Amino acid sequence: MGQCLFCKIVDGAIPAAKVFENETVLAFKDIQPQAKVHYLFIPKKHYSNLNEIKEGEMSVMASVYGAIAQVAKKEGFDSTGYRTVINTNGHGCQSVFHVHVHVLAGEQLGGKMTGV
Ligand code: 5GP
Ligand code: ZN
Repeated sequence: MGQCLFCKIVDGAIPAAKVFENETVLAFKDIQPQAKVHYLFIPKKHYSNLNEIKEGEMSVMASVYGAIAQVAKKEGFDSTGYRTVINTNGHGCQSVFHVHVHVLAGEQLGGKMTGV
């Protein structure tokens, strides 16, 4: 997907502050952080959003959440706590159409889930 912003980050055409990478998953700091820790975890393969991942390929999201759990443990916010969010399409306020999981951590988050 030549024009996709996050594919360009995967390809290295656009720089990002990477926090995790393996064969399947890349994670980097959100450019406009909404908490002290705000990372984006993406499958390297392009899917525009959750709707576009066929059931047979949904294991890619297990890899994404596995990476999140690994980073949370490594950085120590597994025990203090964190929030994961996926925005999908218009009502979800999705703005980048390459599926991504927001990870918010590092401080007390608001009690409502509207903060991302
Ligand atoms: P969405 O609104 O689609 O759920 O989230 C997209 C996220 O991507 C936003 O939080 C936004 O700040 C982030 N973002 C947009 N452009 C860039 C970029 O060029 N680099 C990085 N690291 N994050 C970006
Ligand atoms: Zn993409």
